[in-house]
Amino acid sequence: MKILVINSGSSSIKYKLFVMPKEKLLAKGIIEHIGEKGSNVGNHYAGLKLILNKVNSIDAIGHRVVHGAESFKKPVLINNSVIKKIKQCCAIAPLHNPANLAGIIACARLLPGVKQAAVFDTAFHQSIPEYAYIYGLPYEFYSKFCIRKYGFHGTSHEYVAHEAARILKKPINKLKIITCHLGNGCSITAVDRGKSIDTSMGFTPLEGLIMGTRCGDIDPALVTYIMRKEKLDTHEMDILLNKESGLKGISGISNDMRVLEEKAKSGNKRAKLAIDIFIYRIRKYIGAYTAIMSGCDCLVFTAGIGENQKSIRLKITKNIFKHFKKAPKVLVIPTNEELMIAKQTYQLIKEFSPAGGGVSLDKRLRSFPWSR
Ligand code: AMP
Repeated sequence: MKILVINSGSSSIKYKLFVMPKEKLLAKGIIEHIGEKGSNVGNHYAGLKLILNKVNSIDAIGHRVVHGAESFKKPVLINNSVIKKIKQCCAIAPLHNPANLAGIIACARLLPGVKQAAVFDTAFHQSIPEYAYIYGLPYEFYSKFCIRKYGFHGTSHEYVAHEAARILKKPINKLKIITCHLGNGCSITAVDRGKSIDTSMGFTPLEGLIMGTRCGDIDPALVTYIMRKEKLDTHEMDILLNKESGLKGISGISNDMRVLEEKAKSGNKRAKLAIDIFIYRIRKYIGAYTAIMSGCDCLVFTAGIGENQKSIRLKITKNIFKHFKKAPKVLVIPTNEELMIAKQTYQLIKEFSPAGGGVSLDKRLRSFPWSR
């Protein structure tokens, strides 16, 4: 079965084509600058058309969808009701879900007979217990506005946790695993016997670890304090926290960990400080997650920094499990979110829809603004 995996962002569409269940990669690519000034790709529909010219005989499509809120605890086959629920989640994921939807609707229009599945970044974390996902705010904010921890990078955490179990030759339901996804975006998850029981990102991807340009955990009172001091509006404050902070903000040099390591080696103090803060925060979370799981059998590193920067991994793990009778295994596992999406799409079709057609859009969705 040929499965096309689509990761549709605001101005780009990444794709990979797999033969399943062999897991063979046949093609991959990216269409960039969608809808930007001077670009010859005006929208996602046009972008998808370009991709479909390069690939053929697609049996199914798997989409990465960033936010499934509480509506989606698992991947699902797409129909009109699923599309409507993803649309509802746009309110709490305005930067991501509209672009994901544009990809889904463009595929439904271009390949109406082909089955589609949605795989959510938030789904793996839906097993987090209530006492870990409710914030210390008036409870009405949860019931009225769905404000709670959701967590992200779920497909990556789930993939590497399962890979770790496979490598260790142990059933995942016997393992306590901490997965560290350290890329430009960073998050860490406690995977207790196969289930996410806590993760560092929150209502948005801003919470938790220090990231390339995101601040991670800060005192929330700082937000209004800085807004007053610097006379910033909400949009400007949003940019400060998401795009000007983290490694970039602390170092004043770059969000790229490779650059910072070079600078730190040649004596740059702010680059060294940014790396030290990055590492300290991760160590703190590893300690916390080891405590909530009453132990840790395996620590997994993945994504750009986690997979490639051994010096950072060594600083994170230095003496961290010294008091353990048996030190956890430390594994480096390249993440492969697209393969995970292909696997889950294949599984869904095998289980629930071995025969039958694709997504027949209802009238209102056919004119969805992002698909035109
Ligand atoms: P990602 O978001 O997963 O692409 O990761 C980006 C981060 O990984 C940046 O801070 C890079 O400096 C760091 N990195 C280190 N080595 C590599 C590499 N070989 N390829 C890509 N990113 C790398």
